[in-house]
Amino acid sequence: MLIQVITLFAEMFTALTDYGVTGRAAKNGLWQLSCINPRDFADNRLGYIDERPFGGGPGMIMQAPPIQGAINQAISRVDDKRVIYLSPQGLPLTHEKTIELSKRDSLILLCGRYEGIDERIMLTNDIEEISIGDFVVSGGELPAMVLIDALLRHRAGVLGDEQSAQEDSFCDGLLDCPHYTRPTEFNGLEVPPILLSGNHGEIAKWRKKQSLLRTRERRPDLWERYVLTPQETRLLNEE
Ligand code: SAM
Repeated sequence: MLIQVITLFAEMFTALTDYGVTGRAAKNGLWQLSCINPRDFADNRLGYIDERPFGGGPGMIMQAPPIQGAINQAISRVDDKRVIYLSPQGLPLTHEKTIELSKRDSLILLCGRYEGIDERIMLTNDIEEISIGDFVVSGGELPAMVLIDALLRHRAGVLGDEQSAQEDSFCDGLLDCPHYTRPTEFNGLEVPPILLSGNHGEIAKWRKKQSLLRTRERRPDLWERYVLTPQETRLLNEE
């Protein structure tokens, strides 16, 4: 998968290419990052790409021509010309969206800085805006990295079997169950005895029940959408 990122700060993406699960996947050739700097398309020697907003107000705005130059370069390299602009004004990123994006062969991500990007870029290109939540961060790089990491986890070969994304929160509409490891006693708390029993059927039931209880308690929005099976209803009613 080729991921092209339009950004002023390409170095930030070494957090993905050089570390952990995403770093290993990059080294194994499962995805490839290519950063495009809008400054390379500036019309001035110093590489300025920001200007004061028309109409006044605080901050600077990324100018349309250098951003358009970067977009044109990105779309010239791939068949899929759609661009994703990381923006607090976009639709919130979800588990389902990360699965959808993970199926593409290529992605183009646009990272804003300052007060954002001249609106005419959004009005004249095939752009989808995606937000990582109802708060504002200083640039699109961290949101782009969150999106890339989350979608790569769904690509074949990125996670080992032992880390399968199928067990993670949201996969089946529920939060994950709690996890325990050595030592068996910590801060006066023992590991739930069932996990030491070796009875895999009972362990699976316990884990499912914990997922159900957690989701009901912590995420009423998910709980409302979740359809309980008869077995799960029984499990919840058990003492
Ligand atoms: N003035 C803009 C607004 O209020 O909608 C915020 C600009 S923000 C300081 C600079 C850049 O950070 C944005 O252009 C966007 O690329 C990125 N950004 C900030 N918050 C984000 C979020 N919640 N999700 C995705 N991108 C975000």
